[in-house]
Amino acid sequence: MLNVPSQSFPGSSSQQRVSSGGRSKVPLKQGRSLMDWIRLTKSGKDLTGLKGRLIEVTEEELKKHNKRDDCWICIRGFVYNVSPYMEYHPGGEEELMRAAGSDGTDLFDQVHRWVNYESMLKECLVGRMAVKPAVPKGMLPKSQVTDPLAKEGPSSPSYDWFQTDALVTIVIYTKQKDINLDSVIADHRDDSFRAETVIKDYSYLIHIALSHEIQEDFSVRVVENVGKIEIVLKKKENTSWKCLGHPLENHNSLIPKKDTGLYYRKCQLISKEDVTHDTKLFCLMLPPSTHLQVPTGQHVYFKLTITGTEIVKPYTPVSGSLFSEFKEPVLPNNKYIYFLIKIYPAGLFTPELDHLQIGDYVSVSNPEGNFKISQFQELEDLFLLAAGTGFTPMVKVLSYALTNIPSLRKVKLMFFNKTEDDIIWRSQLEKLAFKDKRFDLEFVLSAPTSEWNGKRGYISPALLSEFLKRSLDTSKVLICICGPVPFTEQGMKLLHDLNFSKDEIHSFTA
Ligand code: FAD
Ligand code: NAP
Repeated sequence: MLNVPSQSFPGSSSQQRVSSGGRSKVPLKQGRSLMDWIRLTKSGKDLTGLKGRLIEVTEEELKKHNKRDDCWICIRGFVYNVSPYMEYHPGGEEELMRAAGSDGTDLFDQVHRWVNYESMLKECLVGRMAVKPAVPKGMLPKSQVTDPLAKEGPSSPSYDWFQTDALVTIVIYTKQKDINLDSVIADHRDDSFRAETVIKDYSYLIHIALSHEIQEDFSVRVVENVGKIEIVLKKKENTSWKCLGHPLENHNSLIPKKDTGLYYRKCQLISKEDVTHDTKLFCLMLPPSTHLQVPTGQHVYFKLTITGTEIVKPYTPVSGSLFSEFKEPVLPNNKYIYFLIKIYPAGLFTPELDHLQIGDYVSVSNPEGNFKISQFQELEDLFLLAAGTGFTPMVKVLSYALTNIPSLRKVKLMFFNKTEDDIIWRSQLEKLAFKDKRFDLEFVLSAPTSEWNGKRGYISPALLSEFLKRSLDTSKVLICICGPVPFTEQGMKLLHDLNFSKDEIHSFTA
């Protein structure tokens, strides 16, 4: 059952509350939450004014619909009447009006390409564009999209394949040195095989309908120093293949990552453990027919269908514990992914997640995010500023830094929460600080009990200037910040005021 919120919206802790600076989320009027929108789309109301007809829209026609109460927007060749959605848009009406009467694909991709607009706006669909609008990137034939852009990016990889009686090996030559097992995401579904290799900000895609059947599982190897990837498929029958198969959409192309759609596979819920009164550790298992490792600092998207509408939300994988070697089940190929997820009783998505039973499935996307491991190079001091579940990206960042960065002298975490009960993995963090002298920990509570002896309040210049002391005057520092949007925005401003440069700060955002 859906937990449909009824009290005043947005709640005091809602991410839909107004924030200062940057791309703000605007306060939505009462009755204008995402759940209210879903209800409206299910009400049978004619939201396009076309009584269910789909039309071909010319460029001239599209341009005419540029007013708030008559606003059409084209996204990837499909035209939507977004006027009924205006008041429900978390980014505000002005943001939508920027694309009124035009092709909004680029704008949409810049802001939130992961939002599943096809599902959210399906009742607003007016029709298809009859001719291409001015910059219709999503509508151009593939060769035109990929080729000119590819010229600006890394040199195009190539692939080859060979076989033995039992195996077929696909070899991808990336011509890049910084390729590792995280760079390849491969899925075998029905008779198609899809392998996406992330090379800088581009994706190289192998996408083939295989000519013969293969077994479910396969292996991926990377020869890092030459950037060679080998994907070894197991034949179902020991026959000789005349060809690998036939190409599917975008096969053998190098596309800017921002232009690739999100690809999902179904993952099974293996376990769910209470961590605090409202936060749980979810363990998901990838299908055997998937190779996916989420790089440190990146997130994935979960997709669930809620009352008939596909809803997508981002989540950040963590390790099973801060001391994973004791906890991680011994399974080959990193098949388990862990998530710390806070359940909001009045939220749209997390109550649904919480209702999943062990053995149920949730769709999980390829990883996204702009954190780069190279930001750790020669790092001496790492400062982590986390609020609430903004702690999640810090888990892997912290472990990676302590394990892999020889130059590292100090890691300090300042963790903001309301009360002691809200602190995620408090005893593990304290144990880690005790075990590893490089790691310091500071909890700051905004609503502590009178017994709390530690720091209290909110992120502030005084707290930060005291906390962000370099271990040496010349230390190379990185400050990572993550939490509610207004927290992060305020923190960024304070860090700039304290003269930290852009290169020294990484904020985790969608
Ligand atoms: P929402 O519906 O978005 O509600 C959020 C808040 O608003 C709640 O407080 C809710 O009570 C309140 N609210 C909503 N509707 C109403 C209403 N009608 N009346 C009153 N109050 C209302 N979260 C994690 O827990 N773990 C992660 O690892 C994680 N990683 C993330 C990574 C990224 C890059 C980003 C951007 C976010 C991440 N999040 C993470 C947050 C996550 O994506 C969701 O935003 C979060 O789970 C809330 O989802 P929800 O749909 O349940 O709540
Ligand atoms: P929370 O419990 O509501 O807040 C954590 C702490 O931050 C509390 O002490 C809170 O104080 C304080 N705080 C909230 N807003 C603030 C502001 N504007 N200025 C200063 N302090 C503020 O947090 P949560 O419910 O866990 O939410 C975590 C947020 O992190 C979510 O918005 C989620 O989307 C985001 N997140 C982002 C990523 C990412 O990668 N981008 C990853 C994970 C989570 P009070 O409540 O007392 O005001």
